[in-house]
Amino acid sequence: MRFTFWGVRGSIPAPGKSTVKYGGNTSCIEIYIKSRNQVVILDAGTGIRELGNNLLTRYKPGTLSCNIFLTHTHWDHVQGFPFFAPAFISGNSFNVYGPVTSSINDGSKKPYLSLKDLFIEQMRYQYFPVKLDEMKAESKFTEIKEGSYEIDGLKIRTKTLNHPVLCIGYRFSFNGSDDLVYCTDSEPYVNYFLNNSSEMPDDLFDPIFYETLKSKLKDPISVEKLSLAMQENLNLVNFCKDARALIYDSQYKKNEYPSKINWGHSRIDDAVSVACRANVGTLYLFHHDPTRSDGEIEDMLSYARELAASRFNNKTIKIEAAEEGRTFEF
Ligand SMILES: [Zn+2]
Ligand SMILES: [Zn+2]
Repeated sequence: MRFTFWGVRGSIPAPGKSTVKYGGNTSCIEIYIKSRNQVVILDAGTGIRELGNNLLTRYKPGTLSCNIFLTHTHWDHVQGFPFFAPAFISGNSFNVYGPVTSSINDGSKKPYLSLKDLFIEQMRYQYFPVKLDEMKAESKFTEIKEGSYEIDGLKIRTKTLNHPVLCIGYRFSFNGSDDLVYCTDSEPYVNYFLNNSSEMPDDLFDPIFYETLKSKLKDPISVEKLSLAMQENLNLVNFCKDARALIYDSQYKKNEYPSKINWGHSRIDDAVSVACRANVGTLYLFHHDPTRSDGEIEDMLSYARELAASRFNNKTIKIEAAEEGRTFEF
């Protein structure tokens, strides 16, 4: 099994001289299972365009069939799909899986949009010159949520993440123990109890932090909510437990987070905390902020490695910054 990063950026593409090394395309990862010549795609951000061009060189027209798993339907995770060249070739086929949020937060009574409707909407003629049904490949859209699945011989578990739309993390099992976990667009569940003026703890997964917070809460409903948040954070660590590779949201630095609470992303400190608490093999820092230069990503990588060793006394974990075009194998 090998995986390649085709897009590592969060929120919006960030091309330019300062992002040449790590890349400016938004979320897209290819998993390739050599024994079965099977391609699996995680998210369809702008990185999927180059992946599509690469697949055209590897598969004859009409012979490509693969599954695309979406964490959620925010732009930076679906925006590349209309530029995915293999989807325009008849005979190719794609199964798109992803979660759909059924309730809409704006108070209006808009009809429920299926996963396919969301893709049709993205390519509506006011936004884009080609309609979804003009893409000649066969495509099927299937809604999934938290659970366990077996799809085309792949064992998959999914976990709801804390993000301002239904968003899921994926755990793929290979050979029983070689698991890859993909958790992006994930904020520690405790955000409800934080505000930009409160003192921000170094580790939002630390049980001592919960206990301190709990002792300050007056009403039982808040205590109950805090317990649920704490449980969900524990569930997330368990979901990542002993994974060989963990690709995790690391969008913010510690000092940036207070003004971005509730936006649905993690501090690098919390990515390291989850990875160390879950005893993963390698943590890949992912969903780099669009403002982040190559130099800043390198600084964040050094910071993360130092943190794992000093705060968590973890000398065995490997930490890498996800980099466009880079392939890892196991
Ligand atoms: Zn995102
Ligand atoms: Zn998002």
